[in-house]
Amino acid sequence: MPITEVTIIRRCAHCRYEIGTMTVKKDNMRLMATEPVWCESCGAEAPEMRDVAERETTIESEQASYPGNPPVADVSAAEFRRRRSAGIDV
Ligand SMILES: [Zn+2]
Repeated sequence: MPITEVTIIRRCAHCRYEIGTMTVKKDNMRLMATEPVWCESCGAEAPEMRDVAERETTIESEQASYPGNPPVADVSAAEFRRRRSAGIDV
């Protein structure tokens, strides 16, 4: 599954108060908002600014969809053997 959706964080452009998040298709991603939004922190309408949220969860789910051995398990198994051979209790 290719990454097709991104999470956008909507913030008040005045105080960076997080108004909310939205998930959009990457193809339709628009970081420029035209309508002002209500900011609770300012107590007024304010221009909206948008940031792309951290994509860790998206990347994680992409890796999980791959068949075969998870790379993390291989690393920990190698580390386990390394510690055993070094005489470290595991
Ligand atoms: Zn604000």
